[in-house]
Amino acid sequence: MHFYLPNFEDLVDPEYDFINDEYSPRREKIGRFQHDQYAHEFFNKPIFDGMLVSKTVVKPATEKRIRTSGNVHTFFRLAKDVPVMGDCGAFTYRDAQIPPYTVKEILEYYETMGFTYGVALDHLIFPTMPDAERSRRLKITLDNAQEFLDQRAALNYQVIPVGIAQGWDATSRRETIQRLLEMGYDHLAIGGMARSSDQEIRETLQAIYPVLPENDQVKMLHLFGVARLSLVPDLMRYGVTSADSASPMRRAFLGTSEDNYWTTNGTRYAAVRIPEVKEGGPKKRGVDSTGEAAVKNGMTMDNMKAMEHETLRLLRAYHAGEVGLEETVTAVLDYDQLHGDKRDHEAAYRRTLKDKAWQKCNCPICEQWGVEVIIFRGNNRNRRRGFHNAYVFYQQFQELVRKQKSTG
Ligand SMILES: [Zn+2]
Repeated sequence: MHFYLPNFEDLVDPEYDFINDEYSPRREKIGRFQHDQYAHEFFNKPIFDGMLVSKTVVKPATEKRIRTSGNVHTFFRLAKDVPVMGDCGAFTYRDAQIPPYTVKEILEYYETMGFTYGVALDHLIFPTMPDAERSRRLKITLDNAQEFLDQRAALNYQVIPVGIAQGWDATSRRETIQRLLEMGYDHLAIGGMARSSDQEIRETLQAIYPVLPENDQVKMLHLFGVARLSLVPDLMRYGVTSADSASPMRRAFLGTSEDNYWTTNGTRYAAVRIPEVKEGGPKKRGVDSTGEAAVKNGMTMDNMKAMEHETLRLLRAYHAGEVGLEETVTAVLDYDQLHGDKRDHEAAYRRTLKDKAWQKCNCPICEQWGVEVIIFRGNNRNRRRGFHNAYVFYQQFQELVRKQKSTG
């Protein structure tokens, strides 16, 4: 089974100056897309089997850049044999009456951008929708699937068409899969299950499995948004050939969670937040802006900045073994307290700092940038942590696939 990593323009500056928190001067000159690097460019082995690129992520300016560079493979600097799957990003237009594209323009987009696989133009269906609306959306998805095949054949395009099953329960998804098979699709996908429970997903796959033809006639059965480690054996048992997940990347910098930094043994850690002291910095949920924080704490901006830099210095010294755990935890928490009342990170931060998991990771990101990877602060640290997570996740994923293959 294969893992696809969704791409959301996940780039970092490889020459970022972490001490002064500055982008490299070269970046300004040659532009972010040429200068910055994608996750896969940092590792000497693959961290995914394929890349997933949603149409809704590719803004017109990016599309132009891709065309100028040649195709998706040259733009993402991927080897030609790494499959790139395009889909329409139906979740983004879930509230629209109809999808914001035509089948013809989607096909042309896939073909001229050089996608390996193109997923037909679908529309999400939610179980809470009235019957008539569910049927209407299912009809849109099926009509588009037929037109997608017809137009592709008429235009003699190379992109491999993937029929996608939407539905509101196991039965409706099974029926959609049957219809797609009747149309002649041998590459299939199941959509709209990214937020479903493991149990719902198992039930859906159990329902679909009996209608799948035998003898490997189905060349792909992709499950959108559901590459969960807990499900790998079941996905393989029921004929799923690939899945994707944005979680390794997203969890690195999402909300108040304590699972920002992943490890191969399954333990996950909170990243240590060191908000940047910035005039008029954006106020985020649960975090005071620097201005508010300064007023509340009776400090000047300069005091705040000094404390910020001292905390960063201590973290680096702790990493180097020059200061102790308590001194570091205290400094981190004192600085953290300045940024709002409802911040109780002591247990999580103590655990992170005590275990020093980033020192035990042998990935190139942790080896080169060390403690910076565990600091929750700005794109260059947070996305690097996401890259590390993607590497860790793919190792775990492959291990489970190997295990399942050997036990059958
Ligand atoms: Zn690492």
